[in-house]
Amino acid sequence: MADLEIRDLHVRTEDREILRGVDLEINRGEIHALMGPNGSGKSTLANTLLGHPSYEITEGSISFKGEDITGAEPHERAKAGLFLAFQYPVSIPGVSVANFLRMAINAKREEPIQVKEFRTQLQHAVELLDVDRSFTSRHLNDGFSGGEKKRAEILQMAMLAPDVAILDETDSGLDIDALRTVAEGVQRLHDEQGLGALIITHYQRILHYVEPEFVHILMDGRIVLEGGVELVERLEREGYDQIRQEVGAAHAGAQSPHVGAQAGAAGASAAGDGSV
Ligand code: ADP
Ligand code: MG
Repeated sequence: MADLEIRDLHVRTEDREILRGVDLEINRGEIHALMGPNGSGKSTLANTLLGHPSYEITEGSISFKGEDITGAEPHERAKAGLFLAFQYPVSIPGVSVANFLRMAINAKREEPIQVKEFRTQLQHAVELLDVDRSFTSRHLNDGFSGGEKKRAEILQMAMLAPDVAILDETDSGLDIDALRTVAEGVQRLHDEQGLGALIITHYQRILHYVEPEFVHILMDGRIVLEGGVELVERLEREGYDQIRQEVGAAHAGAQSPHVGAQAGAAGASAAGDGSV
């Protein structure tokens, strides 16, 4: 049983079905990339995993560590060990990064964390992620650069030590500094804490800094292709359009996206299997 199990997920928003049967399994310690063209439903999946009320699950389920969280509140998901990075972090004037981190930790606990324990954990996270200690006394997101916002987010991730993190990178606008902060942070937390992650992105850029073991390609609300890091290179060479054409051709009439995922020879091998 996988830590995060998404089964046949159908999601609609504003009367339109956006996700049309997504299956995905992510374990602690695994780095996955979910890629896809604009409008394919990537952020819809991220928002649904977060428990965003605008997204209605009409079919399928999400379970985390064996518990059904399909209808769970966002804070219950966080408490269970799922972390969702904010795509557009808010600024909270007057709250320092350190205080924000303390609030985030306390939200997950029965008893507030002891000052000393908090300091030790913060020190560890700051060293692990190579963040300047003075950064933690600055006010959260107040005048932060894109990279600094991401640094605060990754620090939060280090402190909360989730089992699985979902990171939806905006298609438009992370600068290279922000991108590296996220990618290197995820890689370090993966190496040191066994973090599992789903990195959601349109572009290959971030995957130059963190290497996913598993790559899934989402098109029109379905995962149409799955593989290893070689898929990222293929995408770089061929682009989404060519992949869409191949998958579309191999697919015509096929029920399972995994049949289509066997690429060009799918039709032939399916016929072969049929004769057994
Ligand atoms: P991606 O992140 O892959 O670019 P999205 O999940 O943002 O794709 O969007 C997929 C489709 O769902 C788009 O057609 C988008 O317009 C629609 N959509 C997403 N969120 C909403 C929403 N809250 N209200 C209405 N339509 C939405
Ligand atoms: Mg998106």
